[in-house]
Amino acid sequence: MMKAFLSSILLFWPLVASATTDSLRTTPTCRCTAEDPSCWPSSAAFAELERNLSSPLIYPVPPASACYPVSSPSGNCSDVQENWSDGLWRADQPGAMQEPNFETYIWQNGTASACYQNVSIGLSCEQGSVPVVGVDAREVGDIQAAVKFATSNNLRIVVKNTGHDYLGRSTARGSFVIWTHQMKNLTYNASFTLQGSPDAEEHFSAIMLSAGVQWFEAYAEAQKHNRIVVGGISPGGSVGAAGGWVQGGGHSILSPLHGLGVDNVLEMTIVIASGEHLTANQYLNSDLFWTLRGGGGGTYGVVTSVTYRTHPALTVIGTFFSASSNNSNAVHSLLTEIVRTQPELTDAGWAGYGFGLANTLWFLYLMPNATLSYANATLQPLFSFAQNLTSQGLEIQMASITPYDSFYEWYSDIASDPSGGNGANIQIGSHLIPRDLFDNAYQNVSDVLFNLGSYSWNAVAGGKVSEIDPDSVGLNPAWRKALLHVTFGQTWPEGAAADDIDSAIDLIKQGLKSVHKLAPDSGAYFNEASLYEEDPQGTFFGAHYEQLAAIKAKYDPGSSFLVQGGVGSEYWDKDLRCPL
Ligand SMILES: Cc1cc2nc3c(=O)[nH]c(=O)nc-3n(C[C@H](O)[C@H](O)[C@H](O)COP(=O)(O)OP(=O)(O)OC[C@H]3O[C@@H](n4cnc5c(N)ncnc54)[C@H](O)[C@@H]3O)c2cc1C
Repeated sequence: MMKAFLSSILLFWPLVASATTDSLRTTPTCRCTAEDPSCWPSSAAFAELERNLSSPLIYPVPPASACYPVSSPSGNCSDVQENWSDGLWRADQPGAMQEPNFETYIWQNGTASACYQNVSIGLSCEQGSVPVVGVDAREVGDIQAAVKFATSNNLRIVVKNTGHDYLGRSTARGSFVIWTHQMKNLTYNASFTLQGSPDAEEHFSAIMLSAGVQWFEAYAEAQKHNRIVVGGISPGGSVGAAGGWVQGGGHSILSPLHGLGVDNVLEMTIVIASGEHLTANQYLNSDLFWTLRGGGGGTYGVVTSVTYRTHPALTVIGTFFSASSNNSNAVHSLLTEIVRTQPELTDAGWAGYGFGLANTLWFLYLMPNATLSYANATLQPLFSFAQNLTSQGLEIQMASITPYDSFYEWYSDIASDPSGGNGANIQIGSHLIPRDLFDNAYQNVSDVLFNLGSYSWNAVAGGKVSEIDPDSVGLNPAWRKALLHVTFGQTWPEGAAADDIDSAIDLIKQGLKSVHKLAPDSGAYFNEASLYEEDPQGTFFGAHYEQLAAIKAKYDPGSSFLVQGGVGSEYWDKDLRCPL
């Protein structure tokens, strides 16, 4: 069915493509933001909107605002200080991003409008890039009312779920936010049928998640039914399970076994710019369904639910390894060995995450459905290699292999604590590293990674991810050839001088150059990517870009939904406020 759809779209491509380009280009006016009283809706208009909602309008504020004014804090500042890095605490606030730099607005002259946690910097609290008003959506009808209101008033719309986004796509200065976080319905159905299916016998074991469900909630529900669902990992399971994660692709430690998030979606529902609520699956609105699986969040409408297939629960073996050394050559040698053996590790069933600096390195891997002896046998060569490096000054802090009765037990042990991991100013870069480089140029891969300074690798590709037809979903086809998704980042303290932030960003740009040189024909994962890619559309969407743009033009002809680096954003200024 999907193949038939794709061939038909390719057949009529010249026609569709020209319609698309015109359509995405010709939106005539700037979006209205709260800074422009001449177009901003009146209080009466907002009151009228509120009458059509199930919850009052919200007026988001930056999370540190409770600490201001410093002489007489308006809220519980201790709560702010204690929870600053807690991903669940942040996700619970419509005004908080997980990385506070995205709450800050940088003016052209380099000055910042911000609200710092560190009150001793001595500045007042400003709204920055935090939306000023919005809808706390609890029901589909709330989203329909919000979308109709925003489009008829030509507002700069932001769709926000948990605020994890590394491109700042879920916030914008002066914008109107549709906040999906409180849409928490989730239902397991052992015998789910797709709407529009002609086959009454076609049933799936599935879990339906409303837009605001987070991974900690989805995993717990699946576990109750002795099932697992392919999902993301973050401290506290705070990433959204039915928002940007899946629309951007959705990688998981279970992906080499069961595919990416997009490969596990059965059905989605969405409110599009016209206010219609559509179902998208392989039978209904199949072009939209294709696009929503990898074409990027915040771009086609507001997704109201995602239904995923589930898989039988399984036992897992977890490993955690960490080492450090004053001799960075020893750390580099170990990294090279990890890179050299990564294809074997992936083929053996290991998946996971690693992180390195010049003098330290750790990785956290998982192997599903395996015996302890098999897991040991496949990992021992790497552990022995590390052991041999102790003569060169490598100190091994941890090399554990632990069996767990279930994926959920592993997840609860490793990732259920929400504290830490968020609340820092950060910009990242990333790249998908194709498997063929590991055969031909593993030393080069290792050198590039090591020279990034602070780098991480996500061994979440290969296996099932590579077996799936790249054209079956809208996702960047580069994922299907990749073995690793690597990221690198730079952080800076609150209140840093503009020059210091620029220097950090320059390092990201240098890193991007080196990973592009390493794998020029690959791409990057839109959900964990850089704002400073030279060709964002090509890098994030690859050969699927034109089709994604055509489908966006069909469902969002006025470009009401735009995000940084997303489909159609190239025709707009950096704030996505005015067409270029
Ligand atoms: C600590 C941490 C851990 C992470 N772990 C993983 C991981 O294991 N695997 C992985 O693949 N990624 C991971 N990510 C990246 C994550 O996938 C992205 O940040 C993703 O954008 C988060 O989506 P969200 O809906 O939770 O966040 P948000 O920031 O709220 O939204 C992200 C984007 O999706 C849009 N969006 C959200 N909800 C909707 C909706 N209902 N309809 C339409 N658009 C919507 C927003 O407009 C925005 O463009 C991680 C990020 C962090 C910070």
